[in-house]
Amino acid sequence: MEKKTDGLVLRSRDYRENDKLLTVLTAKYGKLTVAARGVKKAGAKLRFAAQPFCFAEFVLAERGGRHTLVSASCHESFFALWTEAIYPASAVLEIADAVASEGAVCTDFFLHTVEALRNMTAGDVKEALAAYLLCALDECGIPVDTGRCFLCGRELTAPKTYFYFPTGSFSCAACAKGVGTAYETYLLLRRLRFGGAGESEEETKRRALSLLKEYLSYKTEIGSRCLKEYLRQLSR
Ligand SMILES: [Zn+2]
Repeated sequence: MEKKTDGLVLRSRDYRENDKLLTVLTAKYGKLTVAARGVKKAGAKLRFAAQPFCFAEFVLAERGGRHTLVSASCHESFFALWTEAIYPASAVLEIADAVASEGAVCTDFFLHTVEALRNMTAGDVKEALAAYLLCALDECGIPVDTGRCFLCGRELTAPKTYFYFPTGSFSCAACAKGVGTAYETYLLLRRLRFGGAGESEEETKRRALSLLKEYLSYKTEIGSRCLKEYLRQLSR
């Protein structure tokens, strides 16, 4: 049986002499493992489709639950991210791989993943990554609550708010539950979630990324080597 679906290559590893085994996040079928035969040979027609960041329409053959690449036509490659933003872009792929489960349909998450890479190519890399982490946390069922103080219900105000890891919520300076967090960090997360105009300082973006990474580690086993490395570079 043949399947046709949009897909994004998250991971590619060597398999046999000339083949690769791909992890592909697809729009229709969730995450799939796909064997790509002969793609390591010089001049192989489907070589492009066997690389991380390839976003294409894939035709896959399925037999006994195993998938083989038949053909692919590239929508967008995002290969420019290899040189321009390799750590944050690879963090998106690693997190997508960890969050999506094999065969479970996740159409919205697929679209958010592609959009994150597109936003990184065209716009603000840190904000694109932070917005993606918020979306990945939603997908895991542990959203960050960017509403009012979760204890007293007041609106949060400058200069300080508190973030409480067990519930993923912010509290006001009077309630002061959790870890002290700059009000600007809260504002940025709120803007990324609800949209709206605004501009944040680079340090605020770094702090927001760091908070989201800590929260992800607090709640899940998901770790991203590239996210860790990116944050290390930013804090130099
Ligand atoms: Zn409060």
